[in-house]
Amino acid sequence: DARINGIKDQIRVVPNFPKPGIMFQDITTLLLKPKEFKDTIDMFVERYKGKNISVVAGIEARGFIFGPPIALAIGAKFVPLRKPKKLPGKVISEEYILEYGRDCLEMHVGAVESAERALVVDDLIATGGTLCAAINLLERVGAEVVECACVIELPDLKVCYVAKFSRQF
Ligand code: IMP
Repeated sequence: DARINGIKDQIRVVPNFPKPGIMFQDITTLLLKPKEFKDTIDMFVERYKGKNISVVAGIEARGFIFGPPIALAIGAKFVPLRKPKKLPGKVISEEYILEYGRDCLEMHVGAVESAERALVVDDLIATGGTLCAAINLLERVGAEVVECACVIELPDLKVCYVAKFSRQF
């Protein structure tokens, strides 16, 4: 798709952020470009429209940028998956392992019902650990995760993620 290179060109790579050795993929520069930002949303909408998806679940924080416009365009509700202690209602939690340490995602009880078809949205997949936690949350309430949509895939980590989680998105 000819739009991909235009989108790629607007993502800034910041070396040594937030720690030495990390090449941080910064999508804030993409958001400054209405055409390429819209192309990004359009490409997801073209893929997911008409697929009977009733829930778009966005992962904090950058899944909150890309998720809602996709949800509105495909006629689905938006459900935020948040870091611990941010959601005010009753939640279910899913812990996951990071390269150094642990983290957790939470979802409001009642936001997603059994047998709903869900799309998970985030900006980037590295190891896939965050997406797996999101999938687990949705599957625990009986939803079916149709697919996970990320703007960026870190290619060097793909094999590692497939081997670790045996997940095919
Ligand atoms: P994973 O769980 O290892 O797949 O890491 C993905 C999560 O880390 C996503 O929620 C990303 O937003 C975040 N992340 C990891 N590296 C980057 C980066 O270079 N830029 C932006 N987000 C990143």
